[in-house]
Amino acid sequence: MSTASNVQHLEVVAEIGTAAAYSAAKLLPATPAPNLYYRRELLCRSLEGRRIDLITITGTNGLPEAEPEAPLPAPLLPEASSRDGHARPHAFPNKPVVLVSARVHPGETPASHVLDGLLAFLVRTDDPRAAALRERFVFKLIPMLNPDGVFRGHYRTDTRGVNLNRVYLEASAAEHPSIHACCAVVQQLHERGALHLFVDCHAHAGKRGCFLYGNLGNSFDELTRAGLFAKLVSLNTLWLDFAACQWFDSQRMEGSARAAVYKHTGLPTVYTLECNYDSGISMNELPKKYTGELLESAEMSSCPMSPEAPRNTSVSHKYDEACYQEIGKALALAVLDMAAANPASRLGPRDSWEDTSEETVRYYYKGLAKTRGAIRQWAEMQLTSAAKRRANTRPRSQSRKGNGGGDEEEDPEDLEPDIDADDEGE
Ligand SMILES: [Zn+2]
Repeated sequence: MSTASNVQHLEVVAEIGTAAAYSAAKLLPATPAPNLYYRRELLCRSLEGRRIDLITITGTNGLPEAEPEAPLPAPLLPEASSRDGHARPHAFPNKPVVLVSARVHPGETPASHVLDGLLAFLVRTDDPRAAALRERFVFKLIPMLNPDGVFRGHYRTDTRGVNLNRVYLEASAAEHPSIHACCAVVQQLHERGALHLFVDCHAHAGKRGCFLYGNLGNSFDELTRAGLFAKLVSLNTLWLDFAACQWFDSQRMEGSARAAVYKHTGLPTVYTLECNYDSGISMNELPKKYTGELLESAEMSSCPMSPEAPRNTSVSHKYDEACYQEIGKALALAVLDMAAANPASRLGPRDSWEDTSEETVRYYYKGLAKTRGAIRQWAEMQLTSAAKRRANTRPRSQSRKGNGGGDEEEDPEDLEPDIDADDEGE
């Protein structure tokens, strides 16, 4: 990448639409590595004409044989046909795609800090973990789904007072352009078998801590896969509370991104990320840092791993921007750990691995296998308690039908006592 394109790159990141995006821009290296592939597209315009961007980040490996991504149906990508030489990003057929969106609820600023932390990590050229991510995955980011709501100072809604995280099953280009566009991206990636993981970033005032909402799915294996990713995120940051993550029947809040993307794709790894604005209840006790040869090498010395947890993990902690950014980075590291491809994982010291001959085997042994085993037990308990909950709550839910009011059909007290879904839910 030339100096000119680096400048353009900096401008692009800084223009994303949040003040915090500048922190990501500052982290960009002065001399980008030649293997960084970065594209920004105008996906569509909001109701009031503001940009909805789609950013693609990956490595340049596989580029020579890659074809451009297919067009999206009009009126999406309004600049794609009008500008000479403008083509869609390359599709990288051998790389799974991780899609991350934020700010469908415009007041939820921590979501942007999470996205910035993810973005800053993905473009790092001095960290072998970031390079490994770009080599194996494509990341597609929609950093700002509701810029009009942000401009107007709304907390949960768009210009017309619509909560856009309820329209994912019926989004129209005319009324909900950004959601319609997001669904089209999901559809395209799903059709070519590329969608690997989806996270929609939110913030939360009703319950302390940072956690994921996921889908219970249709099988033990689906829930195991969904839970494993959440667990791996919590092993890579002090701040994601695995025990606070919640797992829902996919029928709950069908119009939300989490439920709708699962319904469309059947992908187990579809999440809402919720970050409390203020503080958590506890911090994670992180596994010991990997102390193998890579970490001690000059290559890794400039990029310290996440900090060790303080001894006392029961004290509350006030969140700041860095906490949210660290969660964004942990999302990326969990993707890498789940693929058994993290060159400096927390899952287990390399010295104790039984077979170092094959990269994949290294990670599945000990660390990942142990985590996977624990998650299988966890999934059994989740499914048992979900079945009990359904049996206990169905009569009350049915008796309340027709009460009206709010986004939720079910009374949140019936299913999730900690969540006031009308006010603070996903
Ligand atoms: Zn939200």
